[in-house]
Amino acid sequence: MSKEFWFVVGSQDLYGEDVLKTVAERSAEMASWLSEKLPYPLIYKVTAMSSNQITSVMKEANFDDNCLGVITWCHTFSPSKMWLNGLELLQKPWCHFATQYNLEIPNEEIDMDFMNLNQAAHGDREHGFIGARLRKARKVVAGYWKDEKVIARLAEFQKVAAGVDFSKHMKVMRFGDNMRDVAVTEGDKVEVQKKLGWEVNTWAVGDLVKEMNAVTDEEVEALFNEYKANYDIATDNIYAIKYQAREEIAIKKMMDRNGCKAFSNTFQDLYGMEQLPGLASQHLMAQGYGYGGEGDWKVSAMTAILKAMGENGNGASGFMEDYTYHLVEGHEYSLGAHMLEVCPSLAADKPRIETHHLGIGMNEKDPARLVFEGKAGKGIVASLIDMGGRLRLIVQDIEAVKPIMPMPNLPVARVMWRALPNLTDGVECWITAGGAHHTVLSYDVTPEMMRDWAKFMDIEFVHIDKDTTVEKLEDELFIKDIAWKLR
Ligand code: MN
Repeated sequence: MSKEFWFVVGSQDLYGEDVLKTVAERSAEMASWLSEKLPYPLIYKVTAMSSNQITSVMKEANFDDNCLGVITWCHTFSPSKMWLNGLELLQKPWCHFATQYNLEIPNEEIDMDFMNLNQAAHGDREHGFIGARLRKARKVVAGYWKDEKVIARLAEFQKVAAGVDFSKHMKVMRFGDNMRDVAVTEGDKVEVQKKLGWEVNTWAVGDLVKEMNAVTDEEVEALFNEYKANYDIATDNIYAIKYQAREEIAIKKMMDRNGCKAFSNTFQDLYGMEQLPGLASQHLMAQGYGYGGEGDWKVSAMTAILKAMGENGNGASGFMEDYTYHLVEGHEYSLGAHMLEVCPSLAADKPRIETHHLGIGMNEKDPARLVFEGKAGKGIVASLIDMGGRLRLIVQDIEAVKPIMPMPNLPVARVMWRALPNLTDGVECWITAGGAHHTVLSYDVTPEMMRDWAKFMDIEFVHIDKDTTVEKLEDELFIKDIAWKLR
């Protein structure tokens, strides 16, 4: 069954049968037209006219696994006390679409009948009040339903709601614990399950090794051929590549068997493995799985969620780490990479498979990895941290560039960017907010989408953009800290 959204349209019985018939016809027409333009179909469900009817459709929406969210609109005036009970029960993401059927006010045609039928400007205000009065998380989108910009915003709402659904079904497979002594990668696993729906559990590295030993040579050969088709092979060490294939197949089998969409491991715990999974993790991310290094299960789950919220349900988003800066005035950039594991969805060109020595950790043999440059373009970096008692999602706007130097001896994939408002103020803001060195870097999930996702998940959201200053941010964090403690 395909995932879908429901269109619930408000009206009432004051205006007679003809008006209701027109409302129903137009609503069905709008839903079907919008379904062609949106990432997920919009199904017209009902012209709602009573409290019982609205309560019933909202309960149905909660129960139906294929319904990712509800979009409401008031074609006529729709008294909101009849929405109160249903909206209070609604557990799926809600978008209030303040639109109207007609683009123009028809000069000759307009009379009181027209006014009563087409009074969204009136009805949507009543509808807006009840959302505000209930303190209910919602996305408000206003504008003409055939406007491309409006459709794009509805599409973003749908992707966010898909991200909410994906989060609520998230299971993370941890191999080993977090890297010793690291604080920011830690977190309250019970809290994330309660708030975000994530089931975060651990599996033994020994079980993975056993699974790797059971992988057949034919399976390894098939995946090696897939690597050859997708990437340029720039090493003679075919053994290392095939070893990564064996690791990938085993990790994927264990994740799929347990319904996991993300995993973490640590270079400090690779007992029985010859190489840290590099190429293996990169190719798994390319397929939509989340990954976090050093046991960072939070960034792993977030990677998978941002991917799911991106283009076609597997967008250009990947696990990233801030490594080092270029501080030359007027040319300030961050250089991001990881020991091995950078997702090829971020690549500007076809990645190369290389093998190099990896000094850190328990690697007996040189691990194979994909090496490439990141794309240029606007994006974000996102970091989820545990503040003790609540979760904070920090998002910073970035402008990625083609790396300004080739760095021929750097043996890993690299992405270079300029953080907003500028490198040093941006770093000061990020550090002030407590953002991690691990992030999810995304080219196709927008800050507004992340803000809405945080809103539906009921967690704190901090956005660092072109207008952020440390002074304003410190005040914002101070006020939010008090507000969140009061909730
Ligand atoms: Mn790391």
